[in-house]
Amino acid sequence: MKIHRLHTRSALGTAATAVVVILTAACGRSEARSNIVNVYSTRHYGAMEPMYAAFTEETGIRVRVSHGGMHALLERLKAEGERTVADAFFAVDAGGLWLAANEGLLQRVESETINANIPAELRDPEGRFFALSQRIRSIAYMPGRVDPSELSSYEALADRKWRGRLCMRPSTNVYTQSLVASLIAAHGEEKAEQIVRGWVANQPEYIDSDTRILQTIAAGGCDVGVTNHYYLGRLIDQDPDFPVKMFWANQDGRGVHRNVSGIGVTAAAANRQNAIRLIEWLSDRAGQAPDATGLPGSNFEFPVNSTVDAHPIIAGFGAWRADPMPLGEYGRHQADAIQLMERAGYR
Ligand code: FE
Repeated sequence: MKIHRLHTRSALGTAATAVVVILTAACGRSEARSNIVNVYSTRHYGAMEPMYAAFTEETGIRVRVSHGGMHALLERLKAEGERTVADAFFAVDAGGLWLAANEGLLQRVESETINANIPAELRDPEGRFFALSQRIRSIAYMPGRVDPSELSSYEALADRKWRGRLCMRPSTNVYTQSLVASLIAAHGEEKAEQIVRGWVANQPEYIDSDTRILQTIAAGGCDVGVTNHYYLGRLIDQDPDFPVKMFWANQDGRGVHRNVSGIGVTAAAANRQNAIRLIEWLSDRAGQAPDATGLPGSNFEFPVNSTVDAHPIIAGFGAWRADPMPLGEYGRHQADAIQLMERAGYR
């Protein structure tokens, strides 16, 4: 046990990591827990593995990940209660993080390092979850068929001029739910429903993949669509001539719709300190690096740590100003957003 502690506290090379892994395997359950952090994650891009490996290399703390859909993992956390092995919950939508916090599944964390790394508007005010990357859901368009001067806001996509020209993600998608939740928070339900009814009247083509929306725009199937910015970043990374552009919506008003991927420490975490250490590390410069540099693990999201620059491809989309709406609003209005879309006939 002494050797085990010694190793976990020192900076570890790969060989030493292997020793710890072997020792861990030989130890009992409670001891094995001490250099592990278990993460339930909805982040499925395969993007995090190099970061987890680097974290383990530096700290000796192994990261074990269980992947799943947001609602499946929330149900699992609830069902497992105190017995859950999860120390952290990693989600790719602010609504999901708020729902977890609101169910009492996440605990309050106070860390000076985290607070220094992540601006206040990207943290839950009660310290239950923290954004690790920013994803901007905005309006993609095809130059030539659309002049950016014709674009302004999500609300204006309800204008008749977009009839038959719009590609949208269905209501079952959590990104759509958060966007509509933000309309409810900004305008109230009645006005939000009017806006969504306007979108529906424009007979959008519903496509359940942001990447396919962008490809459909490029192929001439629609002129504008609403997608997360990083899908366009990826397509441009693969093909620098990919023609679709990103327009930052609502810059003359409340700001563009910002969602996040983020993480919280579970209420029942057995390895609380390791989970906090992981969040500290992922929000620090090294943990924020892939999206800034395009290293393995890059998803072309905007870093939350303001000392880290965005990757040139997405920086090339131009500066944006985000809606300062607290991230919890997306979760708070999610159920209403789903009902609203059903009433409005949004598929
Ligand atoms: Fe995504």
